[in-house]
Amino acid sequence: MSERVCESCGMPMRQIQDFGGQHEKNKYCRYCTNEKGELKDFETKFQEMVSFITSRMNVSQATAERVARENMAKMPAWKNYF
Ligand SMILES: [Zn+2]
Repeated sequence: MSERVCESCGMPMRQIQDFGGQHEKNKYCRYCTNEKGELKDFETKFQEMVSFITSRMNVSQATAERVARENMAKMPAWKNYF
């Protein structure tokens, strides 16, 4: 299987378990989709990214939100939101 990158968060998807709904044609990873493999909504994913950043980096909530927005603005899944 060739490596694909999630179009929502940029995570490399190397194994079938990494793909949303475990469908290898899914453009999004399991972290960005619900159990059916459908992309989560923007607000849900934004909040998840903010929590992820604050848990990994010693930054304020405002900084985490700015970083999350910058990351999401680059991704094909969310380009219409910016
Ligand atoms: Zn993803």
